[in-house]
Amino acid sequence: MQVTIFEKILSGEIKADIVYQDDNVVAFRDIMPQAKIHLLFIHRKKTINAVELGLLCPQHAADIFSAIAKYSKEFGLDRDGLRIVTNTGPHAGQTVFYTHFHVLAGEALRSFGA
Ligand code: 5GP
Repeated sequence: MQVTIFEKILSGEIKADIVYQDDNVVAFRDIMPQAKIHLLFIHRKKTINAVELGLLCPQHAADIFSAIAKYSKEFGLDRDGLRIVTNTGPHAGQTVFYTHFHVLAGEALRSFGA
């Protein structure tokens, strides 16, 4: 299986602005932010997308959502709102085939899917 950029971030081979980490989950700033705050949450154990994660490792989804919730509470993202997005497969625009959840916040976001 191809080694993705996110595995290189996890191993330290590529630098990232890491904002959160625990035993299971790491979060870092997106290199091309689409909002004032644009974070990527990933599990330390690899799956390629949200469908594989849901089928093989649903606990990973719980770990990631728990991390997003903790971070959002600590930094007040939940006060004005945040958007959680996971692109799954090429038609959805997934470019990195290592499951990740975008967290967008910090400003009023454009309406989604209109
Ligand atoms: P996707 O398009 O797969 O949903 O999201 C992949 C995200 O990874 C994109 O928003 C892209 O900007 C981000 N990204 C790609 N390469 C890097 C990198 O080297 N470092 C960081 N921090 N983000 C990256």
